Amino acid sequence: MKILVINCGSSSLKYQLIDMENEKVLAKGLVERIGIEGSILTQKVNDEKYIIEKPMKDHQVAVELVLGALVDSTHGVISDMSEISAVGHRVVHGGEKYDRSVIIDDDVMNNLEECAKLAPLHNPANIIGINACKKLMPNTPMVAVFDTAFHQTMPEHAYMYALPYEYYEKHSIRRYGFHGTSHKFVSLAAAEMMGKSIEDLKIITCHLGNGASCTAIKNGKSVDTSMGFTPLEGLVMGTRCGDLDPAIIPFLMREENLSAEEVDKVMNKKSGVLGVSGVSSDFRDIEAAAESGNHRAQLALDLFHYRVKKYIGEYAAAMDGVDAIVFTAGLGENSKESRKEICKGLEFMGIEIDKEKNNIRGKAVEISTDDSKIKVFVIPTNEELMIARDTLELVK
Ligand code: ADP
Repeated sequence: MKILVINCGSSSLKYQLIDMENEKVLAKGLVERIGIEGSILTQKVNDEKYIIEKPMKDHQVAVELVLGALVDSTHGVISDMSEISAVGHRVVHGGEKYDRSVIIDDDVMNNLEECAKLAPLHNPANIIGINACKKLMPNTPMVAVFDTAFHQTMPEHAYMYALPYEYYEKHSIRRYGFHGTSHKFVSLAAAEMMGKSIEDLKIITCHLGNGASCTAIKNGKSVDTSMGFTPLEGLVMGTRCGDLDPAIIPFLMREENLSAEEVDKVMNKKSGVLGVSGVSSDFRDIEAAAESGNHRAQLALDLFHYRVKKYIGEYAAAMDGVDAIVFTAGLGENSKESRKEICKGLEFMGIEIDKEKNNIRGKAVEISTDDSKIKVFVIPTNEELMIARDTLELVK
């Protein structure tokens, strides 16, 4: 069975075609600048690149070109579209309706529209992607895999905000959490590496990329996560501020004469390590600047590490203990310095990193010392594979 995984953004589309016999990626690609000048599709098969530069006025044209690239006689990997057994779509927000992946039908489409209110930046693009695929492959089953679903197991006291209860009832204001597919994938992989059942473990997963979040996973279920109503809450991120005294928002609106939308933009696009350092939102640039003595770059890193460390302590308390910590995503997989800084001083909890073992990038390994009571792992995330597995499970 071959499954196509689609992750649609507002002007981009990422895809992978995965052969589920051996979970091998047959082709992967990225379409950028959909609907704007300079549209480009880049497909990779093994290490060979196939590039199409053509105007793409909308996602439908982009999906057409993706399918064309997959069946292309020279650069493609399948001879006919009918070889695609199912399509798995990443959908950012499933609201309270979805605690797992689902086969897409008319009902689901209506619910996704409903959830779009909660994720106005993401869900509309996901819906456009699904509709484009449905038009071109009307008989192929489609599955929606939600970023929020894994966190639907959070207990009420973890997902409620201490606002008047009516706002929850009226506007569905609560914590949802994101990156669920990634947290689930790496926690399952950690349990496998420990040779234990996920049901018997307490794991803290740290997804540290441009967007970043920590999750407390007890007996295989998310019991708390650092992102909230939107992906803005929690850790310090590339351009997002994370946790903040909410009183700062009206203060800024008054003192800087900003509208609600403008403050929202400041918190989402101009804050985080970019805002503090003034250097970049890319951790590699910030590490380099800090290395060469830039105080604010160092401060941005310190803030970032300190916040992750605090969440580890918080979640260990929330779960009455912890067996393993997992680092994943761009920074978690690649930055030995960050992993070292985050875990520094946590020896009292039984977290001890082995300097030699920590000297790796992008590989699934245990990096704690043999004596470390709590195991620490680096595990590359693979959201696409998780989406494909869920899709297979549902259409089988
Ligand atoms: P997203 O999917 O949220 O865009 P990624 O998981 O791809 O994010 O992570 C991107 C981040 O990871 C970037 O800020 C980048 O700087 C950081 N990163 C990637 N490689 C390294 C590295 N070797 N050292 C430090 N940071 C890295």
